[in-house]
Amino acid sequence: MGWWGESGLDEEDRLDREEAKHVIKRTVRMLRPYRSGLLATLVVLILYTAAIEAGPLIVGYAIDHGITGHRSATVIEACGILYLVSALVMAITERAQIVMVNRVGESFLRSLRTRVFRHILSLSMRFFDREQTGRLVTRMTSDIDALEMLIQQGLLVFVTSGLLFVTVVILMLVLSPILFGLCAIVLPPVLISTRKFRRESNVAYLAVRDSISQTLSTLQESLAGVRVVQAFGRERHQYERFRRHNRAQLDANVNAVRISALYFPAIEFTTSVATAIVVGVGGVLVATHLTQIGIVTSFVLYLGLLINPIQQVSQLFNLIQQSGAALNKLYGLLDVAPEVTEPLGAVDLPERGAIEIRDVAFSYRPGELDNVLSGVNLTITPGERLALVGPTGAGKSTLAKLIARFYDPTSGVVRYGGTDLRNASISSLRRRIAVIPQEGFLFHGTIFENVRLGKLDATEDEVRRALRIIGAEARFDALPNGLQTEVRERGSRLSAGERQLVSLARAALANPDVLILDEATSNLDPGTESDVEGAMTALMKGRTVIVIAHRLSTAERSDKVAVVDAGRLVEAGTHNELLGVGGRYAELFASWLGNSGSHDARAVPTAGDG
Ligand code: ADP
Repeated sequence: MGWWGESGLDEEDRLDREEAKHVIKRTVRMLRPYRSGLLATLVVLILYTAAIEAGPLIVGYAIDHGITGHRSATVIEACGILYLVSALVMAITERAQIVMVNRVGESFLRSLRTRVFRHILSLSMRFFDREQTGRLVTRMTSDIDALEMLIQQGLLVFVTSGLLFVTVVILMLVLSPILFGLCAIVLPPVLISTRKFRRESNVAYLAVRDSISQTLSTLQESLAGVRVVQAFGRERHQYERFRRHNRAQLDANVNAVRISALYFPAIEFTTSVATAIVVGVGGVLVATHLTQIGIVTSFVLYLGLLINPIQQVSQLFNLIQQSGAALNKLYGLLDVAPEVTEPLGAVDLPERGAIEIRDVAFSYRPGELDNVLSGVNLTITPGERLALVGPTGAGKSTLAKLIARFYDPTSGVVRYGGTDLRNASISSLRRRIAVIPQEGFLFHGTIFENVRLGKLDATEDEVRRALRIIGAEARFDALPNGLQTEVRERGSRLSAGERQLVSLARAALANPDVLILDEATSNLDPGTESDVEGAMTALMKGRTVIVIAHRLSTAERSDKVAVVDAGRLVEAGTHNELLGVGGRYAELFASWLGNSGSHDARAVPTAGDG
């Protein structure tokens, strides 16, 4: 029946005039590299249209000059051959244009997809705080799919239809203005009913989509909650609900089909009426020698070519609007500028620099008065081991993120080796400072590949050395496939401790000057716990270390302790100094000692969180 996709238009799919203009302009600009391909496609498309339109002309000519009048076998034969040739050209150009449009369209989509992907990866943390992963995935899937569908099914039909419509009108006008004038009478009803059809069917298909999702969500909910449904004897209730939605789905579908079933026959009937007019009036014109039989024949044949494009474009309208909206959203995403950038002439950070945090305030939502951090001053000398302690939500991780420049401070400055991080080259920043999250994130691939992420051009020897430094080489070698063991998605084949070891080896390979560690809050499996501890100790050797400590035993072993509370740095000094002061740290330590049977088992108590 030729309905293009069962999707109606949501409100958000509609672009206003300005947006549409912008999308078209930008698309034209983005299509520039494909100019020659597009031009060639256009030439083929014109040939194709010409071949379609040649048919009726040839038939008319054969009738007027070969059958009526002088009866010439040569003319008929020549016309026959010409007709065959035009049919052949039509077949060849049809195939060629499909291939060409798809080639250009798919290359465009491919580059759009890579551009969007690369752009997303370049964006700063604040963007990811704001955007849901799901929505980003939608951009890359359903929005691109809408464009894919347009390229595969709609674009050619749309352009050909437009070209056909315009040229057929011109041909008809040239052949017989009188007959065209008569046919034109049927055009307004066709155009009006097409517009009406487009509106109504759009509403109808939205209703279909709605009712489908209602039925599905009832199904899903009933299945997910089947235990509750059965335990409370609510089967009948769920069944009734399902039945109601299912019924609504039927009604919506029937309604949508009824609208199409009215439109298409109506258009066909109108075409027949126009044909009857042309045949009737044409007959009179022929009888009065005002025109020739062949011309009337060509006319009748052209009539189909006139109405068809209107019908086809009407069916494509939604798809085109959806694609426009999809492009608009994708362009919007491409327009989001990364926040963490480097200026022209950014400097490379030196080796072994001191970290200075001066009057730093920070808010995740700039403009809000409520700062997550404020008035933070701290210096970390090269090679120093600093523990950040404090209750959950105090701002420890946020401070760590500022040192790694995942965000820029709202006010104040973070320096490394005397350079404001905002003036440092990002590549040197990432080389000098490495962040190790609580849980090691592994990518699809082997252990070897995952370690090598720390330094992409590392040799096998270097990877092995990194594993040796943290004392994990033998452990992974003992696996059946050794370092070539596939970790599967997110490293599901390895234990949590092993994943952490891979992540530590990665850092060892990257060999940064500064390590920012988030100590795991939960206990690892006993088999790997001590290995991970050993690996951390080895990795810390000779580096500046900032550890977000959840166990105060870690703070006890550090060179310096900084206590963060409610966004402020309330105390800083050695473990012993701070105990001597008898302030916030002494309080935390006392309560931690009281809570913990064995030193290392407990995290910092979080009582008193704000
Ligand atoms: P800690 O590491 O001490 O537990 P955080 O630095 O993670 O504390 O959090 C400090 C405050 O900032 C908390 O109130 C937390 O809710 C808020 N916060 C943390 N991350 C974000 C974020 N990405 N967006 C908005 N607020 C955040």
